[in-house]
Amino acid sequence: MRSALLLLGLPFLLGAGTDLRLVVHRSPALAKSGEATAWLEAQLARANAQLEAAGIRLHHAERPGVRIPLEIGSRRERHALAEHAPIDGDLHLFVVRRLANVDAAGEICGVHWRYRGPARALRDRRYLILSLPDALPDTLAHELGHYFGLGHSRDPANLMTSPGRAARSALAPWQLRRVQAALRGALRAGALVARPSAQSSPAVRK
Ligand SMILES: [Zn+2]
Repeated sequence: MRSALLLLGLPFLLGAGTDLRLVVHRSPALAKSGEATAWLEAQLARANAQLEAAGIRLHHAERPGVRIPLEIGSRRERHALAEHAPIDGDLHLFVVRRLANVDAAGEICGVHWRYRGPARALRDRRYLILSLPDALPDTLAHELGHYFGLGHSRDPANLMTSPGRAARSALAPWQLRRVQAALRGALRAGALVARPSAQSSPAVRK
């Protein structure tokens, strides 16, 4: 596997908090798309705005050279992504063109997925999948909320409401505390590793 990562994120303000790396996997067709890159940066900006209050800053890095499908249609296909998402201290995001709802007909914007397939070595790998044309501006932020242990809310003004949340939704103080607790647990367990942006990669290309 190639270790070179391509940094695309804007520099973030220095300050207290935990810098995490969001490794983005997308098919070569989407990697070449300026529209997809702009979309991704907007999702990331929104996620950072939401998680800032929990002391989390995400830095976007690309992992090129991996064959990621453009469409994910089944549980099995979601599970198949696990091989690209090791428990290596980073968050892993897959961007696709179509993400089927595996519980009912239709498609969904995004999902926080945990590998529950047969391969022991892949068990408990967790990652996010987002559908580029369907995602709302804050879908990445919402799925990260699930990653950090939040369930759904019924308050339209809350980020964790789905569907039908307001355009400007936010997390409640108790949810931010839960995110912080989940972050501390993940850092202790080594599932996540704080990586100041300057040390994002031994081979960063601009
Ligand atoms: Zn949700």
